[in-house]
Amino acid sequence: MAVPRADAQGAEALAELVEWQRARRVQFPIIAAHPDLAYLDSAATAQKPQAVLDAVHAYLTTSNANAGRGTYPWANRTTSLVEQTRDRVKRFLQDPAPQRSSVHFTSGATEGLRTIARDWLPGLLADGDEIVVPVADHEANIAPWLEARRQLARQGVHIDVRPMPYQRASGDYDHTALAELAGHRTRFVAVTHVHHVYGGDMNVHRIRRAVGPDAVICLDAAQSVGHLPVSMAELDVDFAVFSGHKAMALPGTGAIWARQERGPRFGPAGWEGTPNTVGIASLAAALDWLDAAGTDRIERWTVALAARFTEGLRHLGAYEILGCQSSLAADSPVQRRQGIVTFRHRAVDSGDLGFILFSHGFMVRSDQHCQGSAGERTGSVRVSLHVHNTVEETDRLLEVLATLG
Ligand code: PLP
Repeated sequence: MAVPRADAQGAEALAELVEWQRARRVQFPIIAAHPDLAYLDSAATAQKPQAVLDAVHAYLTTSNANAGRGTYPWANRTTSLVEQTRDRVKRFLQDPAPQRSSVHFTSGATEGLRTIARDWLPGLLADGDEIVVPVADHEANIAPWLEARRQLARQGVHIDVRPMPYQRASGDYDHTALAELAGHRTRFVAVTHVHHVYGGDMNVHRIRRAVGPDAVICLDAAQSVGHLPVSMAELDVDFAVFSGHKAMALPGTGAIWARQERGPRFGPAGWEGTPNTVGIASLAAALDWLDAAGTDRIERWTVALAARFTEGLRHLGAYEILGCQSSLAADSPVQRRQGIVTFRHRAVDSGDLGFILFSHGFMVRSDQHCQGSAGERTGSVRVSLHVHNTVEETDRLLEVLATLG
């Protein structure tokens, strides 16, 4: 049976959600104040809705104090805020067993992944064990695991790092090759939920099937949290890590969700110090905003917009679209593009293209996107979409790109 494409389904989604989208767009003060600019770089950091700005202001003007220390009302309120936000993160991630998981605040996905590699992974591994590292994903999800291997080697524990196999054309993981590569010594697998360059949903549920029930899976959810429903009830992973600033909270905020069923119990080593209380206040408000808006609708909107844009770009012969080629329907068994589209002009340098696009009011990312060394060799332009982006913006971008063909 032919798989329905998201551009057919997408037209329907864009029509159905247009009023809903307009009502969300106006809630972003920076977007509303700059109607002449199109922010197309949400994969780098997300803009903040008014509700998040209000929550930060309210916290700083009513309760600002340290957490877990004082006994006066501001301190108590701050302590409750931090504890309640841990539970809020679990609910947001649809945690099926919150009594058996934990949430640790970090400064972002990078620190989250590094903390797991530094404080927890060495306790899992013995001499001769193997780990799988996604070598064409974000550098933040590669370097910490390699550093853990170096640290262990200094103690005489030798770990075999297996590069995650990829299907180069689509930027997807090669699940068949992974199943062949993974054996009984494969204790840990680092994966990404949505690829920050190729835009594809990496089909994480298939990783579990490929590596079997005993390996620990650590999910880098930096590009999925805030963009689509991320459900710990559906994904059989042991860790999920994300950046608050990509999910509409303030910079310097992020979290590790740890299920702690396979391997030793997770807990960051040593004294943790004062948490980023203002960031945590912003995170609670951001997750409330996202749940109220509906991450399922945000996903439908951005997937449909990306599908329309990708189809338009495909018709402009001068551009090469990287990675995920398919904008497929939600129930497709193969890889599906989320709201990220990365491309190159066949003749114009990507850095120059970024400047040209800004001269037309488009803010895009144009470089190598912090991809690991097994990734792309040359730069590209990345368009990453969120709920405030419109059909007019992406159609206008296609018109400008067409003039450069
Ligand atoms: N992982 C992925 C997939 C990312 O896209 C990013 C940032 O772009 C990170 C990790 C690192 O996030 P942060 O810089 O917020 O720590």
